[in-house]
Amino acid sequence: MTDPRIIQLIMELRHQGITDTRVLAAIERVPRDRFVQAQFLEHAYDNIALPITQGQTISQPYVVAFMSEALQVNDRMKVLEIGTGSGYQTAVLAKLCRRVYTIERYRSLLLQAERRLAELNISNVTAKLGDGNKGWHEQMPFDRILVTAAADTRPDALLDQLNPMGGILVAPVGRDPDKQEIVRYTKNGLGIAEEKLLPVRFVPLLPGIAKEVG
Ligand code: SAH
Repeated sequence: MTDPRIIQLIMELRHQGITDTRVLAAIERVPRDRFVQAQFLEHAYDNIALPITQGQTISQPYVVAFMSEALQVNDRMKVLEIGTGSGYQTAVLAKLCRRVYTIERYRSLLLQAERRLAELNISNVTAKLGDGNKGWHEQMPFDRILVTAAADTRPDALLDQLNPMGGILVAPVGRDPDKQEIVRYTKNGLGIAEEKLLPVRFVPLLPGIAKEVG
């Protein structure tokens, strides 16, 4: 039986305007309690972002749903995600597409996310340690790219790795944390269309691989 807290969350997301039934079903099927830290377990299905380790966050379910919907993913698509973090958004994407390639700059977060995905038998994800700003050249082109940390400006290096015919990239963009917006970039053969969709607050997209002690 589905956890009543999940049913409550899905109702809330619908109320907030999420209509894509595939996205709502994916959120219903991914146990968010497996991606949060033990001390926040009772809040696992609250519609809020929560701290993870390394000063990072697991995104708010509404934002995960909103970005997944904005990405317009189907089950034939190859998707690149920048910022694996807890792996929660990765798991939701994995339910919606053919394969997810995901990049994280903290080794500890990456290993933890990979373990969680394996425990949930999610097998269509390839994860690596790296600087997501550079994308994943060997695997390009991607049908979709989702960035889950805020870029200062339009992420041109990633747009270069997007399918030129109808490829979509969704990212929070903005140098000032109070003025970030989720932007959708669509390649249409002629150029790149840009739509500002939602004001948000994300941790920053940082350069290079993170140094960790221990
Ligand atoms: N989607 C995640 C959100 C994680 S927060 C979730 O649902 O849990 C953003 C993540 O992006 C952090 O883990 C951070 O370390 C990572 N990140 C920031 N800059 C990066 C970069 N250049 N390359 C790869 N990952 C990066």
